[in-house]
Amino acid sequence: MKMKSYHYSKFILNIKKAKGIFYIRLYSPIISTQKLPATKNVLKIMLPGVLKTECFNSQNIPFSEEVKNTETGHLFEHILLEYLCEEKEKSGKNNFFFEGQTTWDWNKHKIGTYHIVIKSNNDEELVFNKALVKAASLMEFILNTYNLSRLYKKNKHIHKWQLHAPPEHTLLNKTKLQAVL
Ligand SMILES: [Zn+2]
Repeated sequence: MKMKSYHYSKFILNIKKAKGIFYIRLYSPIISTQKLPATKNVLKIMLPGVLKTECFNSQNIPFSEEVKNTETGHLFEHILLEYLCEEKEKSGKNNFFFEGQTTWDWNKHKIGTYHIVIKSNNDEELVFNKALVKAASLMEFILNTYNLSRLYKKNKHIHKWQLHAPPEHTLLNKTKLQAVL
């Protein structure tokens, strides 16, 4: 099994595939969306469908609520699943399923390390690769709100920025980020 590594400025992904199952190890020093208060607003604009995804958590909280205070690895899992479904729908095929699970054990691994397993009924490597690029890009965008959120607390003028919905989520840049904070 060949492992691929992707290094982003705020997180690292290690991915390997076996028999149609994708094993992802995500490491991010920002471990919770509690530190990323813009997350829900960013998702509303960039990937609204993710807020409606099913989430089986111990307290039965819908993902749209859970997202305000959840582990960044769990957030990435939901974003990736949503992009996977979008990519499949685009291809016109309805006969598919994706299932994800995020686990962590910080007694064994560095704090901020998550293990995400994505299962599918087909070998979806092409779709997976496309969805992964988008998911990683959005994740980087959300993690970058960490610094801006801190700035927001310090600078009383920043709250005057207006909310403008960008035309499409493929254009990720700081101007839009300012708009949603
Ligand atoms: Zn979930």
